[in-house]
Amino acid sequence: MECPICNEKMKKGKEPYSFASVLLGEFEADVCPKCKEVFFTEEASDKIDQKAKKLGLWGVGQKGKIGYSGNSLIVRVPKKIASFLKLEEGKEVYIHPEGKNKLVIES
Ligand SMILES: [Zn+2]
Repeated sequence: MECPICNEKMKKGKEPYSFASVLLGEFEADVCPKCKEVFFTEEASDKIDQKAKKLGLWGVGQKGKIGYSGNSLIVRVPKKIASFLKLEEGKEVYIHPEGKNKLVIES
């Protein structure tokens, strides 16, 4: 398998995976030695899902849509996630990108 980002040949490895800040363990993945992108195998993804379900973390994440307000983009935080992270209006958070397709909001 080649890395879809930089076309480097990927290596098999075990990578840690955390969900909602909880480390679920290490899972089989293809790892790009050049850009460090990690792609979990299908089997590993199933294992990750099962583990997350077991820990009661399943169902916390959900799909959302980017909106537009003034000159900023807005993302609605679903109530379930907000209460899981104890987020509330006015609370200061730190927003930063992680990789090229992940937005992290830390409280
Ligand atoms: Zn790569």
